Amino acid sequence: MELGQLFHNLGSEVTLIQRSERLLKEYNPEISEAVEKVLTEQSINLVTGATYDRVEQVGDVKKVYITVNGKKKVVESEQLLIATGRKPNTDTLNLSAAGVEVGKRNEILINDYARTSNEKIYAAGDVTLGSQFVYIAAYEGGVVADNAIGGLNKKLDLSVVPAVTFTNPSIATVGITEKKAIEQGNEVKTSVLSLDSVPRALVNRETTGVLKIVADAKTLKVLGVHIVSENAGEVIYAATLVVKFGLTVEDLKDSLAPYLTMAEGLRLTVLTFDKDVSKLSCCSG
Ligand SMILES: Cc1cc2nc3c(=O)[nH]c(=O)nc-3n(C[C@H](O)[C@H](O)[C@H](O)COP(=O)(O)OP(=O)(O)OC[C@H]3O[C@@H](n4cnc5c(N)ncnc54)[C@H](O)[C@@H]3O)c2cc1C
Repeated sequence: MELGQLFHNLGSEVTLIQRSERLLKEYNPEISEAVEKVLTEQSINLVTGATYDRVEQVGDVKKVYITVNGKKKVVESEQLLIATGRKPNTDTLNLSAAGVEVGKRNEILINDYARTSNEKIYAAGDVTLGSQFVYIAAYEGGVVADNAIGGLNKKLDLSVVPAVTFTNPSIATVGITEKKAIEQGNEVKTSVLSLDSVPRALVNRETTGVLKIVADAKTLKVLGVHIVSENAGEVIYAATLVVKFGLTVEDLKDSLAPYLTMAEGLRLTVLTFDKDVSKLSCCSG
């Protein structure tokens, strides 16, 4: 999506094709809907639920043959960009000779201390197939150094990992989705606020987007925050602290948010648990 939008902004006509029925299928549906709306408004073509039949090149034209809802379709283009995900490149390392076990996708298996099945060998980063982000690789690398060289026996704590997709508007999440929270046995309370109730978005005149907060219905602890907005990646850091340190909806209500920032949207979403914020005369007061 990031690269598709980039090429669209550079003037290409872009069609995004994917197998899943909805964009970002692991995310809350509200997030998927907002992103789909944004991309469609920006005139990026979207094809979801596609099965790939074949790809062929005729002259300079690349033809992608797909089936969508039982119907055959052909998408023609000058260039094709295929995003297939990443795979640990461990085949040639002869890890079994060192007694280092790998998983189904050839990822190096580590325990809570980043140690492999060989107690003298540690691993960090994408090769372990955890959350594939550079800040996770850096954090794990630090723990490895502390444990392997410093003998500190530090445990990895990846319970709260923020994630950002750098589309425009950006998509940022931390904590768990409503579905996951319910699956984990929580009784949940959620609040969803459309960006057209956030003053920063109104003055930007870019109101397609959404904020969603998932909280535990009994303790009111915030379990997850999910955002589609300009600067969502900046806003998510506050939410990361909220989730990591177990703050509640009430804590957020009691904390001031500066007017005309996107972060104010967080507080307005909290207030939406109890009232319709579009009726406030000013600010998240
Ligand atoms: C297009 C793209 C955009 C991304 N954007 C972001 C982003 O915005 N924010 C973010 O946090 N993360 C982003 N990431 C993810 C981030 O790049 C990775 O999570 C991070 O680089 C992982 O670091 P690493 O050290 O574990 O692995 P890598 O950075 O992949 O380093 C592994 C190194 O090992 C070498 N290597 C591989 N196999 C062997 C072998 N068999 N023998 C010897 N050497 C080998 C490779 O050449 C490479 O130098 C992005 C990734 C991609 C692909």
